[in-house]
Amino acid sequence: MRAGARRGTLRCPNGKPIHLLSAIRLGESLMLPAVRWRLYAQPGQTMKQQLSRRAPGHQTGPAGPRPKAGHAAVIEPSLAGGPLQAQALLELQRLAGNQSVGLLLQRSPAGTITAPPLKRPPAAKAPLKKVPAAPPEPTAKWKGEVGPNAGPQETGKILRIPVEGLPEGRAIVLVPTWIGREPKEVEVLVHLHGFGVGYRQLTKTLIKKGERTSDMTEGQVRDLAIDKTEAQIEGSGRDVVGILPQAAGSQSEFGNFTTDSYVTHVFAALTSLKVWDKLPQIRGVVLSGHSGAGNVLTPMLDKSERLPEKLEEVILFDALNWDYQVGHVWHWLERQLARDLHELAGLPTRAKRLEYLTRSMRFRGYHTHTGNYPRRYQKVDEAIGGWFSRHSTLLGILGVESELRSNYVVIDAGDISHEQVMGEKERFKESLGALGPVVAAPAPPVSAADEQKEAAATTTRLDKALSGLHWVSEFPGDTTTDKLKDPFKTHVEAFIALLEANGATVEVNATFRRIERASLMHWASWIAYGKIKPSQAEDDQKTGIIWDHGDDAKSLKAATDMCSKAGYDIAYPAALNSNHTAGLAIDMTITGLPKIIKGLPGKKSVDIGTDPPETNSKLHDLAWRYYRVKKHKTDRPHWSVNGR
Ligand SMILES: [Zn+2]
Repeated sequence: MRAGARRGTLRCPNGKPIHLLSAIRLGESLMLPAVRWRLYAQPGQTMKQQLSRRAPGHQTGPAGPRPKAGHAAVIEPSLAGGPLQAQALLELQRLAGNQSVGLLLQRSPAGTITAPPLKRPPAAKAPLKKVPAAPPEPTAKWKGEVGPNAGPQETGKILRIPVEGLPEGRAIVLVPTWIGREPKEVEVLVHLHGFGVGYRQLTKTLIKKGERTSDMTEGQVRDLAIDKTEAQIEGSGRDVVGILPQAAGSQSEFGNFTTDSYVTHVFAALTSLKVWDKLPQIRGVVLSGHSGAGNVLTPMLDKSERLPEKLEEVILFDALNWDYQVGHVWHWLERQLARDLHELAGLPTRAKRLEYLTRSMRFRGYHTHTGNYPRRYQKVDEAIGGWFSRHSTLLGILGVESELRSNYVVIDAGDISHEQVMGEKERFKESLGALGPVVAAPAPPVSAADEQKEAAATTTRLDKALSGLHWVSEFPGDTTTDKLKDPFKTHVEAFIALLEANGATVEVNATFRRIERASLMHWASWIAYGKIKPSQAEDDQKTGIIWDHGDDAKSLKAATDMCSKAGYDIAYPAALNSNHTAGLAIDMTITGLPKIIKGLPGKKSVDIGTDPPETNSKLHDLAWRYYRVKKHKTDRPHWSVNGR
């Protein structure tokens, strides 16, 4: 049975047709709403078609008198099932005429009508303000709106409901009809609109008032005409409920809403409006925003606050309006990536990691070529790329680099209008399609023994790759003068010959250094000296080292070990490029020097005193003056072409 066919029973919890009040306001017959809902249930016909046939005046505007705000508070509680108050009835009568009130009275159970009787004149005009205002019941209609926002309508297989009376205000809610009245589980797309009229119908009055038209023409509403949200949700084939909040003003004023509360309020409204009988479970929430909505969403992302607990995707359409918002988004992205990495590293097999990735976080950043959007999105893209580059070895070992990468994507939407970025190439549909399958294909069965074997092999590779003392013997440095650059090479060799001729022992610890070794020394010392976080260290020379152990204490310990006496014996943070990598430096330990150095060029002798060689300024002067070998001021064993 087609799910929609049972919709004919759409009624308030008290059994009354839900459109009662709206109908009264519109001056329609009291019975019309029930008829309308029943009609809606007819297969193969849209709400709009039915309405245009049955209630021709409906779309062009209310025909009857319109109540002022405040009247609803009097009338609605009585319609919601409480005893009918005389005050309310009188109000009803005034607004809707005797026929409506008569029908209403007939339908009320006996004894629910309280004194005073109808005929009595209003009791000295009890001021309306003193009637306690009940919380507004959500209605399936936006007050004062005509056209699509005046009531629910079916567009394709999506029921579009303009909901009013949510604690957060108004929203357009899109419900796939195929999920039926008792959906088990749904996903939710919450999309915040940018500056402009939002989902209000673009009327002549709004245009005259100077509102942005956002590529719309008179009479259109954004989601149907520009974003094509309904068609895209239907096209996605997923059980997605679309929530399109309407901002309070024209500049994406959505207030400090908490996403989960918002969704809860909308779902409660859908239940009270009898769109469904039972609250479905929420599988995941997609949070999306266009343009000015970025001013609302990026701070939420930055601090991870007011985000849905089951957030499964973030979509930002031309939504980075200020440079600092790049940082906000990146802070969130970096935390998500770190979490993914942590989870992935904890799973024993690649199959299980791939399974994790089908239901983990997604990010889609779409930008047109408008203004500074390309530049800001480019920065986000570069930051993501940099993170993947820093973690490429680990992801390679885990076997999921490209799969994780495809979950975080910045997309150039092309040279199209800023307003068309959602609708032009069905980007809602595309981003929903980026989510993993609702029912994942089961991973091929693997024996426990095979799983253990794979896990052990991965652990072995990982242990080898993680930073630590065992890396010091990799890419060994040279300890001969062979690869030094002339004339420095000749000068150093002559200086060492002099020292040895004077009875000293010279132990050469390092000369030419391969760039890979220099890189390891550089990053190890920068981590050990706290100049960077382990997660910021790079493997710029593709050595295959993993600096970030997923635990800062462990990462710091490993880097410190590498810098220790047992390791590189690093005295202070090492630069990546140095005189060592250029073949213009030497580290040596000199012992057994006499007080008088003999045999210098010109057969000279110099008294250097008894200071130890590393701090002996007379020895250092001699080396520079006669051999052009200069001692570094603080690096104990280091001599070079220029002292650096
Ligand atoms: Zn050195």
